[in-house]
Amino acid sequence: MAVPQNKVTRSRRGNRRSHDALVAGNPAECPSCGELKRPHHVCPSCGTYADREVIAQADEIDLDEDAA
Ligand SMILES: [Zn+2]
Repeated sequence: MAVPQNKVTRSRRGNRRSHDALVAGNPAECPSCGELKRPHHVCPSCGTYADREVIAQADEIDLDEDAA
């Protein structure tokens, strides 16, 4: 088994981890519903992308359509 040749000091470990911080996303406002969404992604709130509905929303589907 490979064994580290030298102890990594708290300082060196901290220096390495100085680049590990998570960065916040860059949410953009949906032009359709105004909700914040990830840029270049379908809006999870209204299901539109580039002013076009690509995901039908559950409250817009007529459930009685197939019942007849
Ligand atoms: Zn939206």
